[in-house]
Amino acid sequence: MPTDSYLLELQHINQIFGTRERRFTAVQDVNLTLSEGEFVALVGPSGCGKSTLLRIITGLQQPTEGQVIYRGAPLVGVNPHASIVFQTFALFPWLTVLENVEVALKARGLPPKLRTARALDLLDRVGLDGFETAYPRELSGGMRQKVGFARAMAVEPELLCLDEPFSALDVLSAESLRGELLELWTSGSIPTKAILMVTHNIEEAVFMADRILVMDKNPGRIVTNLKLRLPQPRQRKAPGFLAVVDRVYSILAGQTQPEHIEMGAAPGEPGGKTRALPHIGITNLASLLERLDEMADNRADIYRLAEELKVDSDHLLRLTEAAELLGFATIAKGDITLTPLGETFAEASIPARKEIFATRIRRLPIFKWLMAMLYVSDRKQVGWDIVQSELEVEFPREEAERQLETAINWGRYAEILSYDDSTAVIYLEPGVSGGH
Ligand code: ADP
Ligand code: MG
Repeated sequence: MPTDSYLLELQHINQIFGTRERRFTAVQDVNLTLSEGEFVALVGPSGCGKSTLLRIITGLQQPTEGQVIYRGAPLVGVNPHASIVFQTFALFPWLTVLENVEVALKARGLPPKLRTARALDLLDRVGLDGFETAYPRELSGGMRQKVGFARAMAVEPELLCLDEPFSALDVLSAESLRGELLELWTSGSIPTKAILMVTHNIEEAVFMADRILVMDKNPGRIVTNLKLRLPQPRQRKAPGFLAVVDRVYSILAGQTQPEHIEMGAAPGEPGGKTRALPHIGITNLASLLERLDEMADNRADIYRLAEELKVDSDHLLRLTEAAELLGFATIAKGDITLTPLGETFAEASIPARKEIFATRIRRLPIFKWLMAMLYVSDRKQVGWDIVQSELEVEFPREEAERQLETAINWGRYAEILSYDDSTAVIYLEPGVSGGH
């Protein structure tokens, strides 16, 4: 395709920060294109250069090397056709909601009469009808972010850049604002031609985007370009959706081996051996990942960690094995290193951690097997003893019991299954599908 048919093209972008003595490559050889009609998400660990790229794309920053081509021409200065929505939008506290949007229209040179009508229309479209005269302090975080969207939209950007636009919001506001943005976008009721959204949240990227670019750091670069073939609107629990989420996590976890080699077979499966779950608690695993997240290069000598985390070396080895099994860390030559996925987990909120954890354990053959068994069972429940006797095909009696104990602990944390101690019955959580 000729260059000029793209809305935006980045050619060999390098961004170096620092002084001559201490140079640091924040972004290395980034090439990307964005076509009209595309919604692209940019994911990756913090510090991999996502925000830097957005600043370069919108012309707020001049890259050290490389070119930004917009509609076939090299970009010079700030791109007047692009706008950015940040995580928390700075509103003028002394202006009303309406005035905050009018300011953006004034900056565009719109005459006063047209400004008000246009601002009212924008506020209506983001669902802020009735709040025109309110001041920012009277609004919830979600509503303030909507004003931010209205203001970004006021300039009628061809290219809308979003930098973690939902991450500061509570779960419900975030979900409703995502829905509203998608509605505006897919219905074509805004003149925006393309959207580029930076996010930490993989489910959010898969929920909204047509394409996902995965970045890694040191140096910051694009490692994967993943085209999504899921129709809109998307169903978060659909097998196709979960498969894409899983794929992105695998990329972030650096897992490239075929699953059957990496993780063993399901219990009772002919020709394979089931890989045992390491017996560990999630709190300890989280402490390990948090500690690694604080370390230089996210790396540590395994035996030094035993002291630091105040666990014995057996326990520590089980923890590192679990971290590796789940794709949160890699182990080589006695060192353990956090993967981008492990880093994402360490820095995530509790609900986001549960979501990541659920996605990861659902890949394990023993969980796939257990979930499938629950799914096909009457009322989606199975007695402990039935599962245990099946596991005894693979493991000695005592180990089978411990395997099941660990599986239930993990599954409860991930909120994919529950267990009633008084009746010794395992349940699938409502709405959870039986695997894919
Ligand atoms: P992300 O948005 O992916 O978390 P950023 O683009 O904010 O990452 O930053 C990428 C790297 O570049 C980080 O290590 C950050 O500290 C560094 N960085 C960003 N802006 C500057 C700057 N103006 N001067 C020096 N270093 C910077
Ligand atoms: Mg950022």
